[in-house]
Amino acid sequence: MTNLPVILADIEQAARRIEGRIRRTPFALSASLSELCGVPVGLKLEHHQTTGSFKLRGATNAVLSLSPEERARGVAAASTGNHGRALAHAAKAEGSVATICMSRLVPDNKVAEIRRLGANVRIVGGSQDEAQLEVDRLVAEDGLVMVPPFDDTAVVAGQGTLGLEIVEAMPDVATVLVPLSGGGLAAGVAAAVKGRSPGTRVIGLTMERGAAMKASLDAGRPVQVEEVASLADSLGGGIGLDNAVTFEMCRALLDDVILLSETEIAAGMRHAYGEEREVIEGAGAVGIAALLTGRLGRLEGPVAVILSGRNVDMGQHLRVLNGEAGLLREDAA
Ligand SMILES: *Cc1c(COP(=O)(O)O)cnc(C)c1O
Repeated sequence: MTNLPVILADIEQAARRIEGRIRRTPFALSASLSELCGVPVGLKLEHHQTTGSFKLRGATNAVLSLSPEERARGVAAASTGNHGRALAHAAKAEGSVATICMSRLVPDNKVAEIRRLGANVRIVGGSQDEAQLEVDRLVAEDGLVMVPPFDDTAVVAGQGTLGLEIVEAMPDVATVLVPLSGGGLAAGVAAAVKGRSPGTRVIGLTMERGAAMKASLDAGRPVQVEEVASLADSLGGGIGLDNAVTFEMCRALLDDVILLSETEIAAGMRHAYGEEREVIEGAGAVGIAALLTGRLGRLEGPVAVILSGRNVDMGQHLRVLNGEAGLLREDAA
């Protein structure tokens, strides 16, 4: 574990660096999920983080790791929304400017919010990979500094600070459920949790369709998958064929990866709202969704579940609460 790109010491350093700039989010026991699972289940309410997701941790650590000269040139990223939002906020907080490139699949509310946070926005292409090409151009031609959404040691170390807070809130935690896309969150959290508590299991959760990290772990190397619309839009995008950090870490540290259908993700969002009184986006609901399916098998408790973000279009949230069929078309296909 000590020869991985990010280790516990890097995450502890990140925690000192970003302290006071990010929120230490609440951790709350869920009565209903504890009863359902027969073991204590705690929710890390990270959707209450500033900018609405954990992405502020990694973005803030990355921006603070730059030299003043690099910060002055500005930062750039491709983003499905939450990283862009976080980087816009982090850059502004440190006197820099972010340019955010994103695909047409990103919902309008996320685009508007990033503009409001003072960033330049560029909408390019129909996939995360095409948006990334524009970032590469800005770096090569205009001298901006790229802050990747996940495949970066400073970003992973920043996301890992969430894992430290979980172990501090629940020292005997046996299982941690973490949303998984590019793997920055899962890699950082797993390194932190296993660094502090080696016997704890860390399970990644993602949507059935377009699960790039799962396909890559199965193939033994980074592979591309087709991008499709999902309730968990923050889990979209590939892991990068030249992945340098998160693939290796997820392969070494994740004990399992579970895939959720659109219907299951919707049930997770409904449970969060109806039972926990929390508004969360689809990507933030996969942990609860997995517990509700009962597909995790014999679950070692206590369990910690990360609610990773809340940046859902409120019209879509209402349709999910009402159980409207239209948005579940992915399951019918
Ligand atoms: C980015 C994001 C994820 C996935 O994080 P990765 O580091 O890409 O695996 C999960 N939930 C939310 C809300 C996100 O914004």
